[in-house]
Amino acid sequence: MGSQHEHIVMLPFMAQGHIIPFLALAKQIQQRTGFTITIANTPLNVQYLRTTLSTTSNDSSQPSIRLAELPFCGSDHGLPPHTENTESLSLQQFVTFFHASNTLQAPFHSLVSGIIEKEGRPPLCIISDVFFGWATEVAKSLGTANVTFTTGGAYGTAAYMSLWQNLPHRATESDYFAVPGFPDTCRFHITQLHQYLRVADGTDIWSRYFQPMLANSLKSSGWLCNTAEEIEPQGLEIFRNYVKLPVWTIGPLLPPALLNHSPSSGSISGQRAWKVPGVSPEKCLEWLDKHPQSSVLYISFGSQNTISQSQMMELAMGLEDSGKPFIWVIRPPVGFDIKCEFRAEWLPEKFEQRMADRNQGLIVHNWAPQLEILSHKSTGVFLSHCGWNSVMESFCVGVPIIAWPLAAEQCYNSKMLVEDMGVAVELTRGLQGAVVRKEVKRVIELVMDSEGKGEEMKKKAAEIGEKIRDAMREEGSSLKAVDDFVSTMLSKRQGY
Ligand code: UDP
Repeated sequence: MGSQHEHIVMLPFMAQGHIIPFLALAKQIQQRTGFTITIANTPLNVQYLRTTLSTTSNDSSQPSIRLAELPFCGSDHGLPPHTENTESLSLQQFVTFFHASNTLQAPFHSLVSGIIEKEGRPPLCIISDVFFGWATEVAKSLGTANVTFTTGGAYGTAAYMSLWQNLPHRATESDYFAVPGFPDTCRFHITQLHQYLRVADGTDIWSRYFQPMLANSLKSSGWLCNTAEEIEPQGLEIFRNYVKLPVWTIGPLLPPALLNHSPSSGSISGQRAWKVPGVSPEKCLEWLDKHPQSSVLYISFGSQNTISQSQMMELAMGLEDSGKPFIWVIRPPVGFDIKCEFRAEWLPEKFEQRMADRNQGLIVHNWAPQLEILSHKSTGVFLSHCGWNSVMESFCVGVPIIAWPLAAEQCYNSKMLVEDMGVAVELTRGLQGAVVRKEVKRVIELVMDSEGKGEEMKKKAAEIGEKIRDAMREEGSSLKAVDDFVSTMLSKRQGY
């Protein structure tokens, strides 16, 4: 399709859950069109992208996915030196990082100008992260189109946008409230709002980042959404009504190995090289091999979230009481430096040793080979923070979810999974959410039950997995949407 000489410039936000789907989208478009793609980011993230690309590309002398560095100095903004992504930031640093990311506008403008100078015409379009609303201005000033890419799902993104754009939110008598753009029957609970959204009024530091960012994104030519028509039809209807722009559902952008996985093909291998796992994939797989089919609970709160120390303690006791095997990716609890050494006092006395002796639990520090674990036949349930990538990865291999949403749009993802899809049970939400060992045990038993609720959720997760595979096959809706997006951009070129 199209000309070989087209060029698309991409700008993901500096977080793993954003960069990975952007890279997958770049590969998808490149393979289908032969276009040149440039992905721009800060040097550290470009280094990650380079490593990933060099391990997947056969011909590094003729790269059709190019990488461009944008200078960024965390310490200029009061952030720790070398801060270039969200990995180890506290909540306060997070908002500083968001504001600091606006300084990428000038170097990004120069980058695209340089491309125009060299090639004699503007790139076909700029695909920018929803967190870089200002890219619409860069595109407009340089005579190209801008399309916003949300790496989340439709329902979660719509809720996130509407909640930020319709401030303030205050508790009502019932604690439930209507969200503009959502059906009246679909009310949200005040505890589904993150602590900063509960007090935001348009003048605070969070609103001052989110409101202009979202308003600008709504000025783009359209949206790419990391979901499929079949997965969340209702969420897409809400999202389309909200943004009132073309929406191309080009996802979920999952690794091909996971999309091609079948229960009989064993666990996948070749995990992405973002971080060194706290345990080798082989050790995890060996451990899982020793457990019966669908018997293991996998617990992870994603790449940047963690829980409180008291929640960690109750979760540990509930796990022990349940007697169910588990792999738990533990990060330092809230209040501790994310890079600090693991401390035994975060868990009940001799917990790790006891779990190892009984072969009940494998504790992994900081980072685990998630795709390998999820695709292993012994993994039965995922206790997840409901980050969109984790949710899609889990369903792709038919694993239902115990939800514990913590930040961003995770509470809205969880709401959809529980209320619309019946594929998750929520254990608690947020850092203030009550967690008691008895409840942990009850929910684990409910979802890991091989009959009743657990079985029903497993069936639904597998059905969503089928829909994901259908959407992502050659003639599927998501790849058609990629082609449609490219055709629309090519026809738009006439109008520049
Ligand atoms: N991930 C992983 N190992 C970990 C934690 C996370 O491989 O120990 C990967 C996971 O497979 C997913 C991504 O990191 O692809 C996390 O993205 P998600 O959207 O679920 O959550 P976020 O980290 O953005 O909150």
